[in-house]
Amino acid sequence: SFYHNPPSFPAVASILRAAETFQVSRMSDFARKYIEKLFPSDYIGITWGTIGDTAAYTADAIVLGREYNIPSIMKRAFYEFVKRSSGPENDDAGIEKLSSEDLVCLARVQQMLASEWLRASVFPPLACAAVGRNRKCASHAAGLHYWDILLKDDALHKYRFDPMGGLKMLMEADWKKVGYCEGCLVERRTKLRMVQYRIWTAMDTYFKTA
Ligand SMILES: [Zn+2]
Repeated sequence: SFYHNPPSFPAVASILRAAETFQVSRMSDFARKYIEKLFPSDYIGITWGTIGDTAAYTADAIVLGREYNIPSIMKRAFYEFVKRSSGPENDDAGIEKLSSEDLVCLARVQQMLASEWLRASVFPPLACAAVGRNRKCASHAAGLHYWDILLKDDALHKYRFDPMGGLKMLMEADWKKVGYCEGCLVERRTKLRMVQYRIWTAMDTYFKTA
């Protein structure tokens, strides 16, 4: 069925082009909604896992989004393109299709994501309420020495253009291993989530569509 065999991005892109050409609005609406789901822009509900095979079509998505005015897919499409082209895959397939404005935008987004990840991985100390009440907690210490433990496997490099994924990894990291108490663990995770939210919201400024 459709649910178990969802159409690929190229298939739905073809449907949209045909529907627009022949002005079949119901088909066009379906294709738009489907494409919007492939590149969600809402922070809430995004898991920051991979977007699977769709990642190979981010340049096409950007072109399609410009051509048929689907602004909501831009943020995720640009993010995924930067992540993929700068990551281990080093895959910038389709970059030649992008307009010069979008290439400039791409460079700006890339720079922003890299500096945000560096900022996020410094871990400013927390003021723990439990310290001094017969309890130990290491959250007040400056965070740079956590790098070995938390940012193992070259994560600082790995997530340099994927701060959302890097922050997700840090939220799931074992902060008790570096001496955090339960309360500080929760606080750290909340702060990391706030950084994630801030970065994702800040990306809007690169895609003014009005
Ligand atoms: Zn604490």
